[in-house]
Amino acid sequence: MATLAITGGQLLRPDGTISRADVLVDQDEGTILELGDDLAGTGETILDASNALVTPGFVNGHSHVAMTLLRGHADDKPLDTWLQEDIWPAEGELTPEDIRAGAELGLLEMIKSGTTAFADMYFEVPEIAAAVDTAGLRARLGHGVVTVAADEAAAREDAQTSIDVARELDGAADGRISTAFMPHSLTTVGEEYLDEFVPKAREIGVPIHYHANETTDEVAPIVEERGVRPLAYAAEKGMLEPEDFVAHGVHVDESEIELLAEAGTGVIHCPGSNMKLASGMAPVQRLLDAGVTVGLGTDGAASNNDLSLLDEARDAAMVGKLETGDASAVPAEAVAEFLTHGTADAIGLDTGRLEPGAAADLAVIDLDAPHLTPPHDLVSHLAYAAAAADVKHTICDGQVLMRDREVQTLDERAVCDRASERAAALVDRVAE
Ligand SMILES: [Zn+2]
Repeated sequence: MATLAITGGQLLRPDGTISRADVLVDQDEGTILELGDDLAGTGETILDASNALVTPGFVNGHSHVAMTLLRGHADDKPLDTWLQEDIWPAEGELTPEDIRAGAELGLLEMIKSGTTAFADMYFEVPEIAAAVDTAGLRARLGHGVVTVAADEAAAREDAQTSIDVARELDGAADGRISTAFMPHSLTTVGEEYLDEFVPKAREIGVPIHYHANETTDEVAPIVEERGVRPLAYAAEKGMLEPEDFVAHGVHVDESEIELLAEAGTGVIHCPGSNMKLASGMAPVQRLLDAGVTVGLGTDGAASNNDLSLLDEARDAAMVGKLETGDASAVPAEAVAEFLTHGTADAIGLDTGRLEPGAAADLAVIDLDAPHLTPPHDLVSHLAYAAAAADVKHTICDGQVLMRDREVQTLDERAVCDRASERAAALVDRVAE
């Protein structure tokens, strides 16, 4: 049995408390064997975590990882205009090689910011799965379906691709990849396709993930056309099950919060993207009070513009207070859960807890920095002061993905150069 010991650190426990212990990992099984004192002698490989906080690897509940190629391509526009004028034309030109390059860049950034698991909606998903396999992360992947503006044959093919991808890739990368059926949103996928393909997703036993109530433009047409709120429509279509999770949930009313709580459907809060696109502020504290499972997501790098969950955590806390006018709303303890098991539970991945028997997915955060001094409260530092560059080591499934800021599974220079070259050529093609 290959073993890894992470020594000398302060550990963030599942109950939110922090205490000192070493961590012993079974690298063959990818699980945590033991937490205790003086485990250094038992590990074949040692990672130093002295003056560091050891947390579960962070979990990103909603991303479009290959969109890193469009980072900084178009900013400062509202969602609808931004998608139609800039994002969709560029995405129309993306090749599978572009998507592979963009995914590798995104995964590199995730590893460097302590993220070890994520849920991702995009297309050319086998390319993304291959990148995940190489990079060593854990993921729930799916093909995003958009049927508006497509003829019937193309729309059905798109939806069928989402089902096929979910079936074929489930369990890939030695079980690190799970999947979901991913209709883009309730307004961009026609009702007839939901009626036909939601039951197919249930047949193959995968969850459903989609954007919901992100902007008022996603709410008003459904209310006008159907006379019900979007999430009531989603429930009618069988898309509000305990394993399902929606992105955003910004414009949800009390009846929808109740529906989500009763159904057990998770909501992935994406405050960075919501602020940048001026979409609004999700009622996160009210969702929590109602018992809804809330996770955290970055959304794509084109609307964020980075994939650091530590940034997102701070945004979630800040915007949660602003939204309620209550400084005690969305406290640091809630944010620590969003970063770890809260989001893992929302997207249905078995990770996010630092305890014996759990997945050995870990991030080690160096505390030896002026902005993390003095060490009054490390949960507070995690929520409000730590940054991506403080992450020293990243471990997923027992494997060391980053050691002392050196990524082990991807060639950082080559990935960045390839992404820059491909992004430049992409923008040239779009301009032609
Ligand atoms: Zn999104």
